[in-house]
Amino acid sequence: MLKATDVRKSYGNLPILKGVNFEVQKGEIVSIIGPSGAGKSTLLHILGSLDQPDEGTVKLKGTMISELSGNLLSNFRNQNIGFVFQFHHLLPEFSALENVCIPAFIAKTPKKQAETRALELLDLFGLKDRVNHKPNQLSGGEQQRVAIARALVNNPAIILADEPSGNLDSENAAALHQLFVSLRDNFQQTFVIVTHNEHLAKTSDRVVTMKDGLIV
Ligand code: ADP
Ligand code: ADP
Repeated sequence: MLKATDVRKSYGNLPILKGVNFEVQKGEIVSIIGPSGAGKSTLLHILGSLDQPDEGTVKLKGTMISELSGNLLSNFRNQNIGFVFQFHHLLPEFSALENVCIPAFIAKTPKKQAETRALELLDLFGLKDRVNHKPNQLSGGEQQRVAIARALVNNPAIILADEPSGNLDSENAAALHQLFVSLRDNFQQTFVIVTHNEHLAKTSDRVVTMKDGLIV
């Protein structure tokens, strides 16, 4: 599904990624762990084409995303990669339903079709009676589930998550991890997750440890 080959990245003179090779199969949940500053977020951003490597390549579903740029890149990213962050980044002025629809609207999906898909996801995540709530009317766990629905609305090949449960209490974190597992089991959804959470690492199919810019 996703393959990164000999990825290198420096900020100024400081090498951050020093030749990372990384592969994810369809339907796999892979956790990336390791000490702060190891380069985990930098790698995740490069896997998601939010940032480009200085050297090396990233291929997603047969497309060399490390060679795309401009509109081609942003369109490909919007349709194939779902992002989930520690802080949900929902737009405060919009309802849960509208927030989930945004990536579909960017992909020019017709309104009815986008809303049907968004409602399906919100229902699946137990948020049926929350669709018209604004983010500040939702609990932390609910906000994060809305963010995951938004990440899934375009049926992306892969979800990239950076500390998705980092801002949740242990109960909500466990529920979120269970949601990832059920998306894998029911839809063969693929995940790469940067986490400090041991429970999440344990429920993954594979754990990759980074240290000092390398996978160890
Ligand atoms: P981790 O996610 O493992 O904590 P990061 O990938 O966030 O590690 O950061 C790795 C190193 O890269 C850190 O030392 C960080 O300060 C540095 N870094 C990250 N982003 C930038 C940037 N945009 N400019 C300069 N240095 C950066
Ligand atoms: P959690 O189980 O995630 O800890 P909370 O106890 O924070 O949930 O919230 C319980 C319910 O109260 C949620 O379903 C949420 O919709 C509602 N709620 C939480 N915060 C607010 C708020 N600021 N305004 C309106 N409703 C809220």
